[in-house]
Amino acid sequence: MRKPLVAGNWKMNGSSESNKALLEGILSKADTFSDIEVALFPPAVYLGQVQSALSGTDLAWGTQNLSQFEKGAYTGEISASMLADFGCQYVLIGHSERRCLYAELDLDQCLLDRIIAEKYEMAVRAGITPIICIGESPDEHAVGRTEEVVLRLLDTVIAHQGVEGLAHTVLAYEPVWAIGTGRSATPEWAQDVHSFMRQRVAKHDKQIAENIRILYGGSIKGNNAAPLFLQPDIDGGLVGGGSLDADEFVKICQAAV
Ligand code: 13P
Repeated sequence: MRKPLVAGNWKMNGSSESNKALLEGILSKADTFSDIEVALFPPAVYLGQVQSALSGTDLAWGTQNLSQFEKGAYTGEISASMLADFGCQYVLIGHSERRCLYAELDLDQCLLDRIIAEKYEMAVRAGITPIICIGESPDEHAVGRTEEVVLRLLDTVIAHQGVEGLAHTVLAYEPVWAIGTGRSATPEWAQDVHSFMRQRVAKHDKQIAENIRILYGGSIKGNNAAPLFLQPDIDGGLVGGGSLDADEFVKICQAAV
């Protein structure tokens, strides 16, 4: 049985003061979603604040990115070993907002997938659970390329690290057209893509496919989370805007119980 996971990606939002209120609001209701796993992803500068607020609780935390390199002259980057040293449990990899930044540098998609696979390898080696984000752009969606896009990254990741790495990994289907638009994928659409992803993993290893958690992300709110989480292949959510308000986020977590 897969334990649902609800992850709150704060993106570049928050301040010491607003984080404190948000953390207190979530923690005050944590007993209402104690059957699931919940993880928070603050901006790196607030990791310490979140780490100490969540210490001794059942909530986990992670970071929004990591370097694909081990160490050295990479100004502004944070390595997997530093994050592990700091006690970090999860890391988001390949979020579309980061992909877009790289895409501005005209890297082609295959190179981007390779960088994501390298980051993934770093995380696995450091014992940090990666949450690999996969999803098609609005243009790719419009011309029916969802499966092709999902497969390309999934196959690159498997080729890079072997399917065994996926035993300690979470996948997140995040269609770019649904992120921050208020237009969530329908539960049926998301279920079809999740099932497709699980079947692809099963081609390599049935047991890992059965155990791997696949989250949905894109405009999840308190009022649309439950039908998404009821789908058999949706094992929780990766929440952006909906994780910035304690009541809203608590509702989303409760929908996954
Ligand atoms: P929204 O929930 O704001 O659409 O963002 C989703 C997301 O990008 C989570 O990583």
